[in-house]
Amino acid sequence: MTKAHKLDCESVSDTCRFIIQSENEEEAVELARKHMKEVHGQEFTDEELQDDHLQTV
Ligand SMILES: [Zn+2]
Repeated sequence: MTKAHKLDCESVSDTCRFIIQSENEEEAVELARKHMKEVHGQEFTDEELQDDHLQTV
């Protein structure tokens, strides 16, 4: 069984439907941070993303 790391932007934004799902946690964090910065203009640390935004599915 493989776990995937998932960011569901819909849970933090009313307008964004962006979803990241990756089995590689580093990649998921990287993509999430990039998305948050480029699309939402918000900067998060890796810890914040891991603790507050990424789910393990
Ligand atoms: Zn988004």
